[in-house]
Amino acid sequence: MKITDVRVRLLSYVVPPERRHRNDYGWVVKHDTLIVEVLTDEGITGIGTGIGRPESIKSIIEYQLRESLIGEDPTQVERLWTKMYAGSRMEPSLARGYLLPISGRRGDTLCAIAAVDIALWDIWGKILNQPIYRLLGAARTCIRAYASGGWAPGAEAGDEIAGYIAKGYTAAKMRAEGRDGFTIEKSIRRIAAAREAIGPNVELMVDAHGSLDVSTAVQLGKRMEPYDVAWFEEPISPDNHSGLAEVRRATIVPIATGESEFTRFDFLSLLEQRAVDVVQPDIGIAGGFTEVRRILALASAYNVKAAPHNWGSGILFAASMHLILSAPNCYIMEVGQAHNPLIHEIFQEPFAIRDGFVYASERPGLGYTLADDLEERFAFVPGPTMVYA
Ligand SMILES: [Mg+2]
Repeated sequence: MKITDVRVRLLSYVVPPERRHRNDYGWVVKHDTLIVEVLTDEGITGIGTGIGRPESIKSIIEYQLRESLIGEDPTQVERLWTKMYAGSRMEPSLARGYLLPISGRRGDTLCAIAAVDIALWDIWGKILNQPIYRLLGAARTCIRAYASGGWAPGAEAGDEIAGYIAKGYTAAKMRAEGRDGFTIEKSIRRIAAAREAIGPNVELMVDAHGSLDVSTAVQLGKRMEPYDVAWFEEPISPDNHSGLAEVRRATIVPIATGESEFTRFDFLSLLEQRAVDVVQPDIGIAGGFTEVRRILALASAYNVKAAPHNWGSGILFAASMHLILSAPNCYIMEVGQAHNPLIHEIFQEPFAIRDGFVYASERPGLGYTLADDLEERFAFVPGPTMVYA
């Protein structure tokens, strides 16, 4: 079997004003996603996606990766990952046994590699007539989920988080900054309201999206200790691993991070510096199935558990699900609560989310078929997805 073409489509969903949410960086006015299709000479097509700037990922795939993939065997996923990462240095990399990467290998390039890699695994599953999580070696057939949202201001945070629990979730995540903006006092008021509303037996997580500095993160971490927070996510910038280790040492609240990290090498740095309790690689950012399963194995060697980041696209939801079902140190799956039809309405088949669990698809590959009317419903709209206010 040979790859005959690689195509990219871009989609957008403009969020109606009344359904927008605000995170630490502003109001989310639009969701974008891209769909990569890897075509083969035997009629099997794989789909994938990556997170990042859609136009630049599209151009990296079309002008940099596509030509190097055409004619290759799509089932040789390790070879093709190495080829995409090392470019013309693939042959010496494979001959010597260590990677000789090209420059420009992070950022949107890695997201483009991730998108193609997900599509290659989809092809391999379709050839073998097996769901990807079984190809990788299934650890389970369903996974406990947590509701990921929590933007309501002040005391309203209690009702919002309790509403997620009423849907059957046994864990929920809220944002450190709500619609009322950020101060430590505002954040603690919202965390306290959430804990009071859900009682002591539900896990509550708090996400700061890397928005704080070290001293603010330490203060907030200490202040949230009485509310039994299951993890404090991305307290500070992903560019400051030693600072994150400081935050971790200063509070008893476990530290989670990883959605802004690329490759096993970034995660090795976090693990070596003892900066993290829960790793959160995003399969569409950190490098696809091929790389993220290495990251999860690396974390397991440090006895660190994993809760992969899952946000923004139905293809990523499906890919994250297969990854999580296959890796023993993944213990919970993120299910976003923001309004985004690009997650739940781009496939013909619904995701099986029941009573706070996500259940496996047993169909081959990723297991989901794209809807026919995507271009009409989700025409791409250029421009920023977020406005600061
Ligand atoms: Mg996050």
